[in-house]
Amino acid sequence: MARSKQPIKITWLGHSAFHIESPGGKSILIDPWIDNPKAPAGFSKDAKVDLILISHGHSDHIGNAVEIARKSNANVLAIFELYLYLRSQGVQNAIGMNKGGTIEVDGIHVSMVDAKHSCDIDVNGSVVAAGGEAAGFVIRFENGRSLYHAGDTSLFGDMKFIGKLYAPEIALLPIGDLYTMGPREAAMACELLKPKTIIGMHYGTYPVLSGTPQMLKRYLHTKMKNRVVELTPGVVFAC
Ligand code: ZN
Repeated sequence: MARSKQPIKITWLGHSAFHIESPGGKSILIDPWIDNPKAPAGFSKDAKVDLILISHGHSDHIGNAVEIARKSNANVLAIFELYLYLRSQGVQNAIGMNKGGTIEVDGIHVSMVDAKHSCDIDVNGSVVAAGGEAAGFVIRFENGRSLYHAGDTSLFGDMKFIGKLYAPEIALLPIGDLYTMGPREAAMACELLKPKTIIGMHYGTYPVLSGTPQMLKRYLHTKMKNRVVELTPGVVFAC
């Protein structure tokens, strides 16, 4: 198989949590709230994890990151203020970064990009620390292919530059509405980003997160409708 065609294996763990196996076999977790109501049975918090990305300080995104990071010794990437919090929680391998920056970890390049959302760190219903700002990530895998996880965000015009600069082939976009973009806003985000594969997230966890991939398709241009892939939590999607 040509190196550039080696698959990216994406498993939705419910909400905004994803497990990704890179083409080079690295195990990556994004926003690992493994205890979410839609999480599939069978994903072990003891799994081998090389890298954890956390988009912002809300508890539905930090999720089980501290516990998993302590067990796995995975590198954890987060915005600087969230990194300080993670260090205070005993996460030794946390790495602070900020928007516009790119870091290489084990041959995988991760760029932190903007997101428009609140981000204070909440634990058990109270804000415990300031979280800096909410962010998104673009991952460039070992074979040059790329994926964008938007975190929690509204639509914003600079997504156009994320599309232009990083050309993410796969976009993971919140579509649930209320706390993030809904399907209509996400459809416009797709016009700015021009991804080949579009995956909705942050929907269906609770009834209030009411946007769906079907609704997203309705708002998309005809030529983009068939790019939407509806994932089932726990089922690997290789692309
Ligand atoms: Zn949030």
